[in-house]
Amino acid sequence: MTDYPHLLAPLDLGHVTLRNRVLMGSMHTGLEETGDWGRVAEFYAARARGGVGLMVTGGMAPNREGGVFPGAAGLYSAEDIANHRQVTDRVHHAGGRIAMQILHAGRYAYGPDCVAPSAVKSPISPFPPKELDETGIEKQIADIATAAARAREAGYDGVEVMGSEGYFLNQFLVRHTNKREDRWGGAYENRMRLPLEVMRRVRGAVGDDFIVIYRLSMIDLVPEGSSWDEVVTLARAMETAGASILNTGIGWHEARIPTIATSVPRRAFTWVTQKLMGEVGIPVITSNRINTPEVAEAVLAEGCADMVSMARPFLADPDFVAKAEAGRARAIAPCIACNQACLDHTFSGKVSSCLVNPRACHETKLVYSSVKEPKRVAVVGAGPAGLSAALVAAERGHQVALFEAAGRIGGQLNMARQIPGKEEFHGLVDWYEGQVAEVGIDLKLNTRADAAALSGFDEVILATGVVPRDPGIPGQEGPNVASYVEILTGAKAAGDRVAIVGAGGIGFDVAEYLVEDGHGVTEDLDAWLREWGVADPGAARGGLAPDGPKPAPAERKVTLCQRKEGRPGKGLGKTTGWIHRASLRMKGVEMVGGLNYERIDAEGLHVSFGEGHERPTVIAADTIVLCAGQEPYRPLKDELEAAGRRVHVIGGADVAAELDAKRAVDQGARLAASL
Ligand code: NAP
Ligand code: SF4
Repeated sequence: MTDYPHLLAPLDLGHVTLRNRVLMGSMHTGLEETGDWGRVAEFYAARARGGVGLMVTGGMAPNREGGVFPGAAGLYSAEDIANHRQVTDRVHHAGGRIAMQILHAGRYAYGPDCVAPSAVKSPISPFPPKELDETGIEKQIADIATAAARAREAGYDGVEVMGSEGYFLNQFLVRHTNKREDRWGGAYENRMRLPLEVMRRVRGAVGDDFIVIYRLSMIDLVPEGSSWDEVVTLARAMETAGASILNTGIGWHEARIPTIATSVPRRAFTWVTQKLMGEVGIPVITSNRINTPEVAEAVLAEGCADMVSMARPFLADPDFVAKAEAGRARAIAPCIACNQACLDHTFSGKVSSCLVNPRACHETKLVYSSVKEPKRVAVVGAGPAGLSAALVAAERGHQVALFEAAGRIGGQLNMARQIPGKEEFHGLVDWYEGQVAEVGIDLKLNTRADAAALSGFDEVILATGVVPRDPGIPGQEGPNVASYVEILTGAKAAGDRVAIVGAGGIGFDVAEYLVEDGHGVTEDLDAWLREWGVADPGAARGGLAPDGPKPAPAERKVTLCQRKEGRPGKGLGKTTGWIHRASLRMKGVEMVGGLNYERIDAEGLHVSFGEGHERPTVIAADTIVLCAGQEPYRPLKDELEAAGRRVHVIGGADVAAELDAKRAVDQGARLAASL
């Protein structure tokens, strides 16, 4: 008897039966663009071996003008088809099924040749699109249908036609981007003509025995988005036009409401998909912030959908489904929805990976091979770098001892988990705890390793982490000054007015913690929807609340400071920085750049501006919190090296500047893979 009867039930699509209700949603990993098709094939084959019911590839462009960026992969030639054939063969050999996503970006295409229903520039691209004429429209439809036929030729089990997130097909549906007055614009039956014609032609091109998924935007989260009646009308028409499955899209890329970040409550939008259940006869898939089998099972059991899409969780753990099937859900490496190694990489033109699993998309490059002669390996420090090194070394067969001075593992992750909106870090630390026990690591908590304790080991890895940087501000020894560690561990309490010195990742986190008083809305869906201004799309077009966001008042007045000129928060994550900035703005946090810190006294933080130390000002504050970055902490290094021992230094103990858990985990894994 399984704990997940709904999730693991097969899904009969007529000509084919999927082995379970789990879809690996489309992710643009950048792998196809590497041209290393063995690597692409192994990425998908690993997930097929891990038991997922159906996978959808990253978006493939139907033509050059529709590519997300110049040079985006597509199926243009016999060579492309042969390359994709390697992927589908490997997936089928592993017992999996895979559909290719066809993604026409329209005005989101990052290039000067982009096309759209109307010449309305997107706020997230510098390129104004060209308005298509009749011939141009026909070309786009024909190219999408051709891409579908080629996908079939390449051995795919189906295609997903990307009709949501504000891409090309979605742009025809709403007046916000479709200003046309011909048969492709105006009344809704005209605005939906193009997506429907695409579906008819795709179905005609691939025949009946082929899966065709339509990704339908169920809540646009932009002004003048689709009404719920329009969504239902489109869903029914798509079924008639030949769709086999409807997948859920949430929010356009230009929406100013977070939809997948870690601060979004789990399964925050399954209620939207549920509204469509019963309106169509074909299966409906739900998605967004579903990252455990328990949540996925509940979503299906409650009738919110027929199938669940998870994307990033399959970067974190390719064996998600197999582990759930085997009753080992606690062993599933959790996706913490941080975007740091996946979407942030994609938007920086880098191949994706995963903070939790550095092998993601690097399956053929980073290999954890079993060792023939196990070594005795000591790892000092059980933060992300040390944990990662210890786990990979143990997995390879080494005998690992892990020394941790504190009473629990996690290091800086224990700071992160205190932050409202970062609750997923609890699950990550729990997972590490489970894994450390499972692979048989000798964990020595409350143990500060010294040179003598490390003497009998073949390899010594120092992952001793960081200490807060001393900003050296006169008066910082005063009782009204606290370090971020003292605030986040509860060692010191903050007053009603707080000035934060340093506006890096931790300054932002501490500001969030203080305005929420440690309790955010991530675990209270109704409050979160209110805070961001999300309404039922049945009551408000596009799901935007008519009276806008309604954040709860801040618990205290916070001023966030940095010495650099300009807007604080520029260095935050590429796809999440805007959320942190918006969230603090909603709470009235003041952000000030270009400061000199002159001194601290009972009045607060005295500052001046510019090289000439002009405009002396006091930021009135009861508490000043120091978040001025970190320095490496590696007290054992010199001592061990002086004794002739070779040591490996990783994580913050190696380089503290711009340290994040992604770099720490990656560095630990790579070192351990090489021992
Ligand atoms: P950080 O990002 O390096 O920021 C340090 C801040 O302190 C900057 O605002 C810096 O700005 C200021 N500063 C540096 N030296 C100073 C000095 N001597 N006196 C006064 N101010 C000084 O470090 P962090 O905030 O401690 O974060 C550490 C790492 O954790 C970051 O690299 C970050 O990637 C990671 N992290 C990430 C997130 C996330 O959301 N992804 C969250 C938390 C932490 P000025 O020099 O302009 O004053
Ligand atoms: Fe999830 Fe973060 Fe990994 Fe992306 S990098 S898959 S968001 S854990």
